[in-house]
Amino acid sequence: MSKKCIKNNCKAWALVGDDYCFSHSPQMAEKRQQARQKGGIVGKNPHDRIKINLEPIVIEHGSDIKKMLVETINLVRIGQMDIKVANCIGNLSNILVKVIEITEIEEKVEQIEEKILKKNE
Ligand SMILES: [Zn+2]
Repeated sequence: MSKKCIKNNCKAWALVGDDYCFSHSPQMAEKRQQARQKGGIVGKNPHDRIKINLEPIVIEHGSDIKKMLVETINLVRIGQMDIKVANCIGNLSNILVKVIEITEIEEKVEQIEEKILKKNE
């Protein structure tokens, strides 16, 4: 049966066979330190989180974003890209998709306006 950590105000689940959660267990002090060091080394430069060299790319159309997202998904799947970097690419792609959509609609509206104006000349 799972139980809660007995540390004051801690709402995390206790580890199996322990009265404390990972963050509070005295038995986990060494592992916490290792995790912090690992995190510290990786965390300094986000580009260290990508284990291969990626070239800058031109993104103009939805198909470019699709290609990049497929590449990103695959890099995460094979452990060559940090999840935080991938999430950031995902968020920015989301915004970019909307901007591309709006730009395309604006261009179409302009074309239609031109046609209407020509007809009325
Ligand atoms: Zn706790």
